Amino acid sequence: MASTIGVLSLQGDVAEHCRSIEALGRRAVQIRYARQLDGVDGLIIPGGESTTIAKLTADNPDAIFDRIREFIDAGKPVYGTCMGSIFLAKEIEGSQQGRLAAMDIKVRRNAFGPQRFSFETTLNIPVLGDEPLNAIFIRGPVILSAGEGVDVMARVDANIGRLGKTTGSLPDESTLYDSYIVMARQNNLLVSSFHPELTDDHRVHNYFVQMVECIEPAKVSAGSEKEEGSKTASRLVNSMALASV
Ligand code: GLN
Repeated sequence: MASTIGVLSLQGDVAEHCRSIEALGRRAVQIRYARQLDGVDGLIIPGGESTTIAKLTADNPDAIFDRIREFIDAGKPVYGTCMGSIFLAKEIEGSQQGRLAAMDIKVRRNAFGPQRFSFETTLNIPVLGDEPLNAIFIRGPVILSAGEGVDVMARVDANIGRLGKTTGSLPDESTLYDSYIVMARQNNLLVSSFHPELTDDHRVHNYFVQMVECIEPAKVSAGSEKEEGSKTASRLVNSMALASV
């Protein structure tokens, strides 16, 4: 049976995720209240601002934070894009900000610099097939390290972006990274540092839908109508209303 996918709709680029899910012939439901999670098979946590989603869920009389944790603990699939990956992470470099702490990854926020350093690049993601994926990074995080149970699905060269190679922001974080993890999976949890919902290539969402429907992800071909970079970039800034650093 075709699944119903919830998109956490307290903040961030919700409509774009709904569009991707619907393009795959599945139902998308905007989730604002804890009880709505009973009616969905999987959940997407969109891009946005991780400190804001932490506040909005913690200060929520509806206990939505606890309900998302229960959803994860019950083995239901959750996909976090960008801010969503930060919110799912066990560890955030140099920060104790609120988070679900569900996935065994350590993330670095704003790893490529401020909003104006946002960029697009192509990624090889073997599980999605041979065709590289156009990936849009908007003030995105990276995964600095991942536990044993985490499957690394994609990496970028650490020299990518305008900051180039950086060390950690803390005195004890002097490691120079050659590459950063930008997509990973741990059992029912999937994260990406980039925004597949801003293109017409729905392979990442299709992979997530397959996780939800318990089918081994099929290799599907990329969408034929790829958008031009400038169009996607402006759409992104409009839709996400991210505060610039
Ligand atoms: N920089 C944001 C944060 O740290 C994430 C940006 C995004 O989701 N595009 O929360």
